[in-house]
Amino acid sequence: MPAEIRLFMCLSDNFGALIHDPATGATAAIDAPEAAPVIAELEREGWTLTDILVTHHHADHVQGISELKQKYRCRVTAPHDKAAPIADVDVRVKEGDTVKIGNLVARVLETPGHTLDHISYVFDSEKALFAADTIFSIGCGRVIEGTYPMMWDSLLKLRALPDDMRLYCGHEYTQSNINFALTIEPDNADLKARAAEVEQLRAAGKPTLPTLLGDEKKANVFLRADIASVAAAVGLAGKSGAEVFGEIRERKNRS
Ligand code: ZN
Ligand code: FE
Repeated sequence: MPAEIRLFMCLSDNFGALIHDPATGATAAIDAPEAAPVIAELEREGWTLTDILVTHHHADHVQGISELKQKYRCRVTAPHDKAAPIADVDVRVKEGDTVKIGNLVARVLETPGHTLDHISYVFDSEKALFAADTIFSIGCGRVIEGTYPMMWDSLLKLRALPDDMRLYCGHEYTQSNINFALTIEPDNADLKARAAEVEQLRAAGKPTLPTLLGDEKKANVFLRADIASVAAAVGLAGKSGAEVFGEIRERKNRS
């Protein structure tokens, strides 16, 4: 039986996500931006929370954990980097570890850069990638704790996953990301198509996620820093992907 996945808004622009295994009833929340919307979604579906899969230590991803754990006695899985303060953790995971949610298996990929502890969860059989603040649709997280080469390596790791993988991420930033990406790739047809699609979705009050990783590879400028035309567009023809990525990220920070 395939997993059921629900996406909903938390705080102002965070996504909450649930993945549910119908065979066993196990249900995981990916991060816990706040408890109330997670509880509301669980109750709407009649699901019980068994797990929280934490991606990184930022408050807007962990501040609902304590309340959820108290209510459901769920297991909390978090990055192994204990330097990052996350409350109520039961299991620490690192690159290559797997976490079982009932019969569903999540693979842990370390994707540092936004923070040093950031991990992503891949459900290969479900074709679902939870990348939190590493990749956004047509964007990527701000490089706060890591370095540009570190973040670029993390993006390459996720870019290597199959095109038919559905991408779920931490924030609804797609529209502003598109506005920025168009300043670098104004003639990218896939980006323009995504812009039109997102305009419709937002006008209808719908989320712009999930999206297909294959579509992101064609339209997300941050995943395209090693393409010659992108390097040239930022005046860095012939430079490494990491350098071009750093320049694009700097421009986004200033935009
Ligand atoms: Zn964050
Ligand atoms: Fe965040």
